[in-house]
Amino acid sequence: MQTKRIFSSIVLIVLAMAYQLSAAQLAEAITRRLAATPGDQAILQELKASIGQITDVDARMRYMVIYALGCLYTGDNQEAGTVMHFIQSRHATHPMAQYIGIDYIGAPCTQCKGAGHLVADCAACNKSGTCRHCNGEGNRQQEAIGGVTDRREKIGNQWVTVSRGDAPTHRTVPCGPCRRSGKCSTCNGEGTVKTNCQSCHGQGKIFNREIAEGTYRALLHGAQPQLPEWEKDAE
Ligand SMILES: [Zn+2]
Ligand SMILES: [Zn+2]
Ligand SMILES: [Zn+2]
Repeated sequence: MQTKRIFSSIVLIVLAMAYQLSAAQLAEAITRRLAATPGDQAILQELKASIGQITDVDARMRYMVIYALGCLYTGDNQEAGTVMHFIQSRHATHPMAQYIGIDYIGAPCTQCKGAGHLVADCAACNKSGTCRHCNGEGNRQQEAIGGVTDRREKIGNQWVTVSRGDAPTHRTVPCGPCRRSGKCSTCNGEGTVKTNCQSCHGQGKIFNREIAEGTYRALLHGAQPQLPEWEKDAE
């Protein structure tokens, strides 16, 4: 009885292994056909259907990334976006995930030269970097409360008027806007301000079809994707 039970579980394991192997093998066979005709949407649909049967994460990631890039290749950006979002939300750290990331399939933004932000002169300080409220002193003069007024003082038992004409009419107070630093609070003394680049939404890179297609073709052929020469120079 015991032997029979062990035997049947071994059969189950072997069956599961064979089944798993065939699921990944099926996906690989579909991928080889896709390599010959990368834009074939019917084969892409076959690939999509086969992915659900694969339980091995590494294998599933490979075919999901190929499928996502295939969707981009055929112009189905919506489906590509859905798959890419799924991969990035569940398997962002998997090595295969880089091939659908903007860092990889993006080219440096020409608007901001890859910085993700634009630099402009600070209008608040006319690019001087100094606080306009205190001219960079850190303190500023404030009119003394009461100003120039004479006051009555009792000397002995007699009230006399004491002139305050020579009393200071202004007093030195710490500059609030710059918190005594003397630096322009808008640009923190830099004289320039950074604004988020609208072209690349601060990412510094813009999706590049050439790189995405090159990556797709390389993965279809089981090769290590290579970045274009101009992209390598930039790194
Ligand atoms: Zn400024
Ligand atoms: Zn100031
Ligand atoms: Zn940009």
